[in-house]
Amino acid sequence: MAEAYHVDSDVGFINELAGLGGEDLKKCFQCATCSVACPISPDTRPFPRKEMLAASWGLKDKIVGNPDIWLCHNCGDCSTLCPRGAKPGDALMAMRNYNIFEYATPKALAKAVADPKKLPLLLAIPAVIILVLGLVLKLFGVNWLNFAPHEAVWQADYINNYLVDIIMIPTFTGAIAVFALGLKRFVADMHANALADGKTDKQAIDPAGFGRALLRILPTIMKHEKFNECSENRDRSTAHLMVLYSFIGLFIVTGCFFLAEWVFHIEGPYTQVNPVKWIANISALSLIIGAALLLKNRLAKEDQVSGYWDWYLIGLVLALGATGLLTEMARLAGFVGLSAVIYFVHLMFVWSLFAYTPFSKLAHLVYRTTAMAYNEYIGRK
Ligand code: SF4
Ligand code: SF4
Repeated sequence: MAEAYHVDSDVGFINELAGLGGEDLKKCFQCATCSVACPISPDTRPFPRKEMLAASWGLKDKIVGNPDIWLCHNCGDCSTLCPRGAKPGDALMAMRNYNIFEYATPKALAKAVADPKKLPLLLAIPAVIILVLGLVLKLFGVNWLNFAPHEAVWQADYINNYLVDIIMIPTFTGAIAVFALGLKRFVADMHANALADGKTDKQAIDPAGFGRALLRILPTIMKHEKFNECSENRDRSTAHLMVLYSFIGLFIVTGCFFLAEWVFHIEGPYTQVNPVKWIANISALSLIIGAALLLKNRLAKEDQVSGYWDWYLIGLVLALGATGLLTEMARLAGFVGLSAVIYFVHLMFVWSLFAYTPFSKLAHLVYRTTAMAYNEYIGRK
């Protein structure tokens, strides 16, 4: 006689997935078309059918720390072919969103970032930090905040770079710490699940082997190779790549100017022909175009579920690029006051990017990379 299996269903989990974009997952009747249709699903224990079953039964422990859900690139091929309209691609996206939420600390901040009503409050936090710190320093004779300079040759004439750095560096460091805590639990859970499912027989994770697996999958990520294996939403690959490389470009630019200022004590302003400024301008332009393409793609796909998380990310990326470029354009056109205000708003978005990324959809980049490295490490193809 078959062994009895007690299903400990978490109804609240099903409802939360529904709120994150998986509202149709319970329509699934387990035909397995999705797993056959998916161009990147492995041959053994393929996804997303088994995840659709686990999610619709409310089996949270089968979804949290599940490395397979991160192999999906939400191309939508399976959703197009699903005979029940269960939208497995969107359901997997909801499961990934849930994982980000689950591994983020503190939970209260994660909840706030997922709540559109809290957006004004979240954006007000960096504004208050910049203003309060700038005004307090003024009391001590340090004039690092000046919204009405007589003339401006660069943005540091309104908000000094040192003021920006002493606000951004701890925020960035805090985000790294949140990611580190989340990833530690995430990797441990993935490994426990993989052992339980028989996907690996390695009892402990070897950090050096994991590092080598990470290096091996980086070209796949940098070229978005998995994305290009899909047919339904392949055009999204270009927009994704533009945003990814823009962020890498802006990260390099920030690093260069940080080193110039803090290590080599080469104070700005830097000339317009400086190659680092060229990288900054090209990256900002590419960020705006990439985000606009993502927006166009989402608006065109009426059958695809788009929630607040999707709009938040696209809006933030667009706002970052636009305010960065407009700060410079307004200053070059002689609108110094306007440029100062736009720069202030730009810094609010930059701070939000650092502080809220571990709780937002952008965290996919970190969790997906880790999960892909883990799958490579255990040899899951
Ligand atoms: S999600 Fe759709 S295609 Fe996949 S098993 Fe369920 S009903 Fe079939
Ligand atoms: S959305 Fe694309 S990658 Fe994800 S499971 Fe469906 S077919 Fe596979």
